[in-house]
Amino acid sequence: MNLLRAGLAALTFVALAACTTAPSRPQAAAPAVSADQTTPPAHDNLNATLWMQSAAEYKATVRGIYAAARHSLDRALDDPNWNALPAGEFQTGFEAKPPAIVVDADETMIDNSAFQARAVIEDAGYSRERWLEWVNARKAAALPGAVEFADYVHRRGVTIFFITNRDAPDEVEATVDNLRQLGFPIAADGSNVLLRGDARAPDRDKGARRRLIDRSYRVLLLLGDNLSDFLDGANADVATRERLMAPYEKWWGERWFMLPNPSYGSWPNAVLRGCAKDTNPRACLHSALHYKY
Ligand SMILES: [Mg+2]
Repeated sequence: MNLLRAGLAALTFVALAACTTAPSRPQAAAPAVSADQTTPPAHDNLNATLWMQSAAEYKATVRGIYAAARHSLDRALDDPNWNALPAGEFQTGFEAKPPAIVVDADETMIDNSAFQARAVIEDAGYSRERWLEWVNARKAAALPGAVEFADYVHRRGVTIFFITNRDAPDEVEATVDNLRQLGFPIAADGSNVLLRGDARAPDRDKGARRRLIDRSYRVLLLLGDNLSDFLDGANADVATRERLMAPYEKWWGERWFMLPNPSYGSWPNAVLRGCAKDTNPRACLHSALHYKY
């Protein structure tokens, strides 16, 4: 799962300043730390992880997105010309095909924040070993409202495909088990879960897997937490990503639904691509801040 790797390679940082309203007034000094308390080490992912685990604002946002997606699903089912795949990823004749939606798994339908939180507590970064331990534990929770949303989609006769960049074959069994245990509609053979490296469409990017689904289904919605859940080529610099999604501005909140993820993703890598390779990552990220007013 390259997004987690990217996110935890000391590149994740606080995106929560935007969540506050205005600078708060000076408050009374915090009580002095007693001698038996130590200050935990600073970790770039503390605020983002805490927000995703504890903020009512995060839960409300996620529930709101599923609610909007549900309304769009109803409209899409009534409109045979509706298709949510980007240009080049669908063939003519889709109107007659059975309906489906495509969702990402991590931080789109399921919650890996305990994995992130442990890294904060242990002052650690990403490692493949740590990630596999987490995946194999099958302890990812459903995002608030995710199972209810999936259940609604299923009851409307729409197939849900999970396209995730968890790696096949190592992570297939645990991922399918985890999703099934949470109550998501998973086929008996797990065929509606497509990991990166799936023999049916082994490209790293998700477009090949979306095109595979297009062969047999009309895709009504895409849900994700990363631009690459919607468009190939999103592992690029900031300006390229902006250009890539420009033709689809009106699709957000209608055919495409982005879940918030301030904790990790390809977005910090996009910033890092703007700096020379030998630049200190933190210095690079700082250099991208807009602060003049
Ligand atoms: Mg994801």
